[in-house]
Amino acid sequence: MSILAAVMPAPRVPVELREFAEPALEPGSVLLRTLYSEVCGTDVHVWHGRLSGVPYPIIPGHVSVGVADQVRGDVRGVDGTRVAEGDRLVFFDVHRTCGRCRACTVTRTPTRCAARRVYGITDPAAEGLFGGWSEAIYLEPGVAIATLPDSVPPETYISGGCGLITAVHAIDRAAIVLGDTVLVQGTGAVGLSVIALARLAGATRVIAFGAPADRLALAAAMGADTVVDIERTPPPERMQIVHDLTGGAGVDVAVEAAGSARAVEEALDLIRDGGRYVIAGHYTDAGPSAINVHQQINRKHLEIRGCWGSEVGHFVRALRLLERHHATIPWRAIGARTYQLSELNQALADAEAMRLPKALVAPH
Ligand SMILES: [Zn+2]
Ligand SMILES: [Zn+2]
Repeated sequence: MSILAAVMPAPRVPVELREFAEPALEPGSVLLRTLYSEVCGTDVHVWHGRLSGVPYPIIPGHVSVGVADQVRGDVRGVDGTRVAEGDRLVFFDVHRTCGRCRACTVTRTPTRCAARRVYGITDPAAEGLFGGWSEAIYLEPGVAIATLPDSVPPETYISGGCGLITAVHAIDRAAIVLGDTVLVQGTGAVGLSVIALARLAGATRVIAFGAPADRLALAAAMGADTVVDIERTPPPERMQIVHDLTGGAGVDVAVEAAGSARAVEEALDLIRDGGRYVIAGHYTDAGPSAINVHQQINRKHLEIRGCWGSEVGHFVRALRLLERHHATIPWRAIGARTYQLSELNQALADAEAMRLPKALVAPH
């Protein structure tokens, strides 16, 4: 039996379908029949060749959901329960984090572990089915697996997707307290989930800067109190809006989820003295920002935090959030359209042109 997968041969080269042999399963592994994967902003960056360390050709698709088709031996989910064939499973895309290096043990920054690999991004297709744009995914021993909560539709999980998991991490870094006013820059998949989670974390006002119009409508549906179209509202007007909404003080916390060097310059003028700024959207190098550290950081006593990747705990807590809130927070609406494996070049073009917040992939 062969397995069909969509392979990205190299940057800027069309994705093509290839057949793979069914893998020999090691003890402790699972062969997942893919229900859904996704096309996210990172996939577009990978296609553009803008992410370092990508071992092309790859099978893209880093966050996915499926059904356990074959389970070899005693495989346990992160909560300790035994995984059985037929279970609806999700898994944490980051694997092989070593647990022994300086990043893992001394500085406690495991998302910077050099051994770390990511399904769909840093796993070569030559090594097998390590991506979600495929009829099946090989979950090697040691991958963090969880059963999808019964009440959560797989379409909802994948529509939240990597953006939701990243947003959980960003909200941790933002350390929002009850009553905060939060600015979210960017209304892509990460920004949309940050909006919803900022509300859950206690923010009493969320301001979203973004575009285009359909994403702003989603931003409002996700819980933003004020949405500002950055294509129609120039920076001085945006500053005036924040000024008026905060009594001239500026926001308590801002979260950058736009991937723009200009966004960073702007936010530093919109955060109050002693406030906090989390930068989560610069997954690729968007170039330098021009800032005045005296006026914008030092004198303001500002705290700036980066947010790189995510850890198993963010993935597990994202599942809890979906289980509790999926009926009231419209994550499902983020996954606007579903593509077949044969349609992925169109999906990448649509994602690149920002014609939809997130493209879903249904390999079967
Ligand atoms: Zn992603
Ligand atoms: Zn390590």
